[in-house]
Parts: sequence; C-alpha cells; structure tokens
Amino acid sequence: MPVAGSTAVTPAVSAAPGAAEHWGPDFGALRRQDPELAGLILAEKDRQSGCLQLIAGENFASPAVLAALGSPLANKYAEGYPGHRHHAGCELVDLAERLAVERATGLFGAGHANVQPYSGSSAVLAAYAALLVPGDTVLATALPHGGHLTHGSRSNFSGRWFRFVGYGTRRDTGLIDYDQVRDLAREHRPKAIVCGGIAHPRHPDYAAFREIADEADAYLIVDAAHTLGLVAGGAAPNPVPYADVVCATTHKTLRGPRGGLILCGEQLAGRVDRAVFPFSQGGPHMHSVAAKAAAFGEAATPAFAAYAHQVVANARLLAGALAAEGLDVQTGGTDTHLVTADVSPLGVSGLRARALCAAAGIVLDKYALPYDTRPADECSGVRIGTAAITTQGLGENEMAQVAALIVRALREERGVAAAVAGLVRDFPPYP
Ligand SMILES: *Cc1c(COP(=O)(O)O)cnc(C)c1O
Repeated sequence: MPVAGSTAVTPAVSAAPGAAEHWGPDFGALRRQDPELAGLILAEKDRQSGCLQLIAGENFASPAVLAALGSPLANKYAEGYPGHRHHAGCELVDLAERLAVERATGLFGAGHANVQPYSGSSAVLAAYAALLVPGDTVLATALPHGGHLTHGSRSNFSGRWFRFVGYGTRRDTGLIDYDQVRDLAREHRPKAIVCGGIAHPRHPDYAAFREIADEADAYLIVDAAHTLGLVAGGAAPNPVPYADVVCATTHKTLRGPRGGLILCGEQLAGRVDRAVFPFSQGGPHMHSVAAKAAAFGEAATPAFAAYAHQVVANARLLAGALAAEGLDVQTGGTDTHLVTADVSPLGVSGLRARALCAAAGIVLDKYALPYDTRPADECSGVRIGTAAITTQGLGENEMAQVAALIVRALREERGVAAAVAGLVRDFPPYP
C-alpha cells in the first residue's frame, strides 16, 4: 500500500541534549558486560582507521547515522507502512519512516520511495517481484562484465527464477556495447532491462537504455547501488527520470546505514511496497530506517555535494596516477568513485595484488576484468573506490601518494606499511 500523505512531519518529542546518553554509542555498557565482544568491535574500529580503505562499496557512516543505528528503534516491530501497521505503538516510528520517505523523494525527485529494504539485494529482489513473474526474461549486465549476483547469477535467486540474458562491454573501449544491448532486446523481448553494476567506472547512458526498453516494451530497472550517493550530491546523472524502478544501497557512496532503497513513480508505488512487505520481508528495521533518514538529511547538504564531487575528482586523480605508474586503467579513467585496473603490467595477478596491498595496510578488492585471461579466482584486476578515503578528508594532495603506495606495495618495496600508517594517522574517520 502506498505511504499515506506527504505532509511535513512535526517531531512529537524534542531531542534534549544528553537525554539519550545512557544508550549512546560509547560502548560503556558493552565493555562492562562483554569485554570480549567490545574488544573485537574496538579493534575493528582501529583496523578501519589504521588502514587505507579502498573497497569500492564501503564508506564511513557519520556519528549521527551510527547513533540512530544504535538506538532503541531497533526494538520496534512495525510491519506495514506508516498509518497502516500490523502492530500497536507505531506512532513515532511512523514519523521516522515518513521523514525518511519524504527526504528520499525530495533528494532524488522521485514520486515514491520505499525505505524498508534490508539491503541492496533485498531491494533488487523486491523490484523484480514488483514487475516480473518467475520464468520472465531479463536483460542485464553479464556477470563477467560487472553485473551483480542479483543480475542473473545461477547461485542467486535471480538466475534461478528468471531467464537472464547478458550484455557486455566492448573489448576495444571497455564501454557498454549499446548495439549489442539493442540487438539482444530485439531478439529476446525481455520483460525488464537492468542497468548498473558493481565495477563499470562510467555512467550508463540512461536515455539510451530507456529508448531500448521502450522499443522492446520492457521495464527499465536501474541498479544504482554504487552511485546513488553521487547522484544525491549532484556529481552523477540522476536515473530517476528514466527508470521505472531504481534500486540502491544506502551504505555505499550514500554514506548511510547498511541497507536498501527503492525509488519509483507513483503508479508503481503500490506494487513496489507490496513486493517489499509482505512479499519478501517482515518487519522493517526501524533503527535502520531512521538512520537512512539521517543519511538523506546529510546528503541534501552543500557539504555532501562538495563531498560527492571530491569523490569523483579523487577517483580521476587516482586513475591518472595509477596509469602513469604503468597499470592498465579500464576505460582510460572514471566518471565515478570506481577505478578498475589491470595489474598484469606489474607482473602480478589480482589475487596477489590484493594480498600484497593488504600486507601494507591497503585494503582493496581483486577484480576479474571483462575478457580476463586468468582463472576467475586469481584474475588480473583490482577494483578501487574513493568513497571512504574522501570521507576521511583525503583530497587532491594525497591521491598521487595513495597511487604511489599501491604501486610500491605491488613492487614489494620496504616501508610501505609504515608510510600508509603515517598517512592515515592524519585523517581519522571519527575524530
Ligand atoms: C552492492 C550491490 C548490491 C547489493 O547490495 P547488498 O547490500 O550487498 O545486498 C546490488 N547491486 C549492485 C549493483 C551492487 O553494487
């Protein structure tokens, strides 16, 4: 059922300073009650701030987002939607969810938002459930060309329940082959076309995808899991005007809590909402919904717009510096937070590159490139993202240094770990 009304929300309670400190994220209670677990959490916090975090889907959520996540909203059952819950006592969480929905629709110019998906994968599942029936044909990025598991992997519900046809990127340019997408759409008449993925460093041409989808009479689903934060900050094109449904995560470039989000027009609102609850989920995680509201509030600020632009500027500088050091940067650069590069010119595999970097305190992913000649687990590429280090405050001056550290690690030079530790010491993610 669609969310009723869209009137401005008046907070029913005021957040008096200090009122919530007894459950605040100071770990005091956890440390006293369970020092073993508290120790693990604090050690992980130190690991995150003590290394260079270059995993493309990771970020540092703000203390405000973490406070909402650690709040008693985690206790509340609220099956249904604001104004239509299966449980009593939902008046305040109704306000929190309405706040999240209004902020999301405002931020992205969408007719409707569902803020309940537990994760990006849950959002994709619900999008398929809203538009498709099992056995339908779906055209999506082939997994070896950067598609996500939910885009047709045989080990995922998507590949098991739908008939996926994959399009890819061109061998010569590394860019999406729109002629192939159009030909496959004409040949297979898919019920839906999915664009967006896990590693392609360029934005899809949403207008081209819309045109191809219209010609094939197919729905267009944009999986903007990686890039929606850049959209929020005005540093990437907005897929909302082109797509029937946009799915995303809230924890990647959007820098919110781990979770999912669906945006669509009002005409699909009921189908999308029913596909989330009751079709594929139970009670929403209200602490996470509240944290999403906090993140959408942050993402609407000029500071976040500056952040999003800096993420892309940093990725471009990093791509350029890595190319200058001899790595084969895919598509010749990036328009996003993502850089993928072939590390073969330095005489290592992607797997070996990941291990050498990890030993130096540089945390990045190996990545099987399109047309990769090595076995998938070994592969030839690495995938790097600048969302987390940009949140820490690394900027133009540091990107050449980051690239040099990566290359020094790949060359097994001495002293890299100490240099990494020295660099991140100046950029604590949490003051
Ligand atoms: C990250 C990602 C997802 C899945 O998100 P989870 O929160 O890990 O379930 C789905 N699609 C794409 C394109 C992604 O990058």
